[in-house]
Amino acid sequence: MCLDCSIKSPRGLKRRHLMKLAALGFAAGGTAPIALASETKTPPAADAHGAAAHAAEAPPEGGHDAAQAAEAKPAADPHASPSDGLTPKQALAKLKEGNRRFVEDANACAADLAARRTELAAGQHPWAIVLTCSDSRVTPELIFGGVTLGELFVVRNAGNVLDTGALGTIEYGTEHLHAPLVVVMGHKKCGAVAAACDVVKKGVELEGSIGKMVQPILPVALSALFTSEDFVGQTVRNNAVSGARRITEESPIVSHLVESGAVKVIAAVYDIETGEVQFIDKIA
Ligand SMILES: [Zn+2]
Repeated sequence: MCLDCSIKSPRGLKRRHLMKLAALGFAAGGTAPIALASETKTPPAADAHGAAAHAAEAPPEGGHDAAQAAEAKPAADPHASPSDGLTPKQALAKLKEGNRRFVEDANACAADLAARRTELAAGQHPWAIVLTCSDSRVTPELIFGGVTLGELFVVRNAGNVLDTGALGTIEYGTEHLHAPLVVVMGHKKCGAVAAACDVVKKGVELEGSIGKMVQPILPVALSALFTSEDFVGQTVRNNAVSGARRITEESPIVSHLVESGAVKVIAAVYDIETGEVQFIDKIA
């Protein structure tokens, strides 16, 4: 599927169209306007969940904190999952360490697939769930340091949209497979997010099911409109934060696990040029 080729000729954006989008997007996506991230100095509008201020607090760095990763030690946490032994904090440190390896020496990422395949035949115990884009350049198993079979529980669709399938998969991964960490990861130059931005900004009409697919991104794009010179980049970031926040808002199962300390949900943005992942811890 080529999102770029599916876009009809842009037309001028009319106020009526914008209002229609707002009503459609907010109703369909079930989301409140997303906070403006650090790229803009414009004070974000408060929403019902107070997410604007929190998202704006998201740390600008942290995707490759090698020191923190090196300090990660096994067990010792009362909330550690019995199946994998990793706490949410340790799982996050492991992702950061893996991404650091990927950035510094991508060729070092290799996996002994045959041995792991045999080991995992009896069952899986993934230690992180990743909801990310289907973009072929955004492969979690590679960009997190060449993790092998049985480690990441991955959900992918264009635009890393939190739809019913994605949320159900995340519930399964946390509740039944006991994965302690959930990451909603967008990426720079995302075609699906760019398409949603074109719908909002240029009144583009998307053909087939693509329009429905990006519908949950529309309210996020609308809230980022005119707030940053990098409209698509801002929407990518806000879309990841929105998806992460909605997981606990819409899933009592995951929300309960987060409240107990067994699971942590964060957002992230992957830079397809540098290979670095910027983690956004504060999502709510
Ligand atoms: Zn994408």
